[in-house]
Amino acid sequence: MKRIAIIGGGIAGVAAAFEFILQQRAGADIEFVLFEATSRLGGTVETVRRDGFVVECGPDSWVTEKPWARELAIELDLESELVASNDEKRKTYIAEDNALIAMPDGMRMMVPTKWESVLSSPLFSEQAKLAYLREPELAEQLKANALDVGDGYRDESVRDFVGRHFGEEVASTIAAPLLAGVFGGDIAKLSVRAVMPTFVALEREHGSLVFGLQQRLQTGKKSAPIFTSLRSGLGALITGIESLIPERSLQRNVAVEAIEHSAGMWRIHWTHGGVTHPFEASFDAVVVATPAATTARLLTPVDSRIGEFLPQQSSSAIVVALGFDGDQARSMRIPAGFGFLVRQHELPPDQGGELDANLAPEVGDDAAQQALLACTFLNQKFPHTAPVGAILLRAFFGGPSAPDLLAHDDATLIRLARTLLERFLGKLPEPSVGLARRWPTSLPLYEVGHQERIAALDLRVAKLPNLRLIGNAYRGVGLPDLIRSGRAAARQIVAG
Ligand SMILES: Cc1cc2nc3c(=O)[nH]c(=O)nc-3n(C[C@H](O)[C@H](O)[C@H](O)COP(=O)(O)OP(=O)(O)OC[C@H]3O[C@@H](n4cnc5c(N)ncnc54)[C@H](O)[C@@H]3O)c2cc1C
Repeated sequence: MKRIAIIGGGIAGVAAAFEFILQQRAGADIEFVLFEATSRLGGTVETVRRDGFVVECGPDSWVTEKPWARELAIELDLESELVASNDEKRKTYIAEDNALIAMPDGMRMMVPTKWESVLSSPLFSEQAKLAYLREPELAEQLKANALDVGDGYRDESVRDFVGRHFGEEVASTIAAPLLAGVFGGDIAKLSVRAVMPTFVALEREHGSLVFGLQQRLQTGKKSAPIFTSLRSGLGALITGIESLIPERSLQRNVAVEAIEHSAGMWRIHWTHGGVTHPFEASFDAVVVATPAATTARLLTPVDSRIGEFLPQQSSSAIVVALGFDGDQARSMRIPAGFGFLVRQHELPPDQGGELDANLAPEVGDDAAQQALLACTFLNQKFPHTAPVGAILLRAFFGGPSAPDLLAHDDATLIRLARTLLERFLGKLPEPSVGLARRWPTSLPLYEVGHQERIAALDLRVAKLPNLRLIGNAYRGVGLPDLIRSGRAAARQIVAG
């Protein structure tokens, strides 16, 4: 019998456990143990249901285009729970000064598909509009430049890539806030190949992103709803799998402290519930599904250079949900749409004084303002998340200033979120439901050269028998990619 350890019970580790269960049912002679440092499985995936609100504390949905989360939901008998985003209300705003300016209709990230809406938008200067108009004319030059690198690994930052096509203003107005929330990073450092592979492919094929996208839309099928979620919350994916894991295969409150490899076996050392006395056991194979920094620490004794190939930085996120019941919601005026993204440099520091007086003097003004990256109008994006007539807002704090906020208590964070959101949404009543979650160092930064480093990492890992690394440090941070790679790793271990 092959004995397997899974270290880390986030979505990646839990997806691997699910696949091992399927393989056992299909007759594979295996046994596995999932080690999770906390009392709860799911990692960043957590749903809280309160007073009729379905509050997602981490991810709120997945990108529909990628099938692997949907497939998993169906396998877990959750098909009737699948719910599509309310794309009729899809509009995103950019928060500038104290106002919300709608992104032009038809934008695919920073690429326009409807000229008239871009040219009439107050979001861009005349110069940026001109840059948009000129981009298709530069197609040959852009394509030649892209093909020049052959199949090599030349990478560049998102800022350079977007800047080459549309100029600096578009990069900072749209690309920066769009990507800050997803990849937690500065676009001057983010790898375009790792985070925008579709646009890199469009450039290689057509040169112009505007022209390439038009071609694709003309030939493509009618697009599906952009996001998908689950009516009872994404936590159902986790609890659905958890209910299938036998007790003997699950170790909660168990932090793995070290991994060794000797005589063809993997030795795992762990502590239980904070007790320092170490336990250990041997396994034939190990799946490491921990965040990048932990993975680097655990594997350094096995390969002293492994940490060099993993993301070196991860950003922290804080989510604050504010639920307003029907009575409270009546006085609120939330614009139609999915929410807004904050254009960072548009928050002038001289507005800080206002906050100081009524907010939380202990929270640095600048830190708080700069850390607010976005707000989702969840009941408009996914109506199932709030009772009829109620409003659910979710503020997202991140970026370099977020660590300064992590130490504050829930009440302070809720107050802070409410005060900052009022700048853009007008007076907000005291919420009937308020909830704050901190996710320290949860989003790894895919820096320029990321894919090349991961390819080198793969070669090193391949030299270590029966070891697989999964999770959001490698090939995507979204749920579908993590589910796909977690399940694939489990199948490879069984087959190997
Ligand atoms: C606020 C936020 C919003 C997001 N929104 C979306 C979204 O809408 N859609 C989307 O697709 N993605 C979203 N993401 C990204 C996605 O949620 C994450 O990338 C994903 O959940 C990470 O899963 P993971 O399994 O790699 O890691 P984690 O969820 O970080 O899980 C790692 C697990 O390992 C455990 N662990 C750590 N150390 C040890 C140890 N020594 N021993 C044992 N166990 C250990 C941890 O306790 C944790 O449970 C969001 C992320 C954040 C932070």
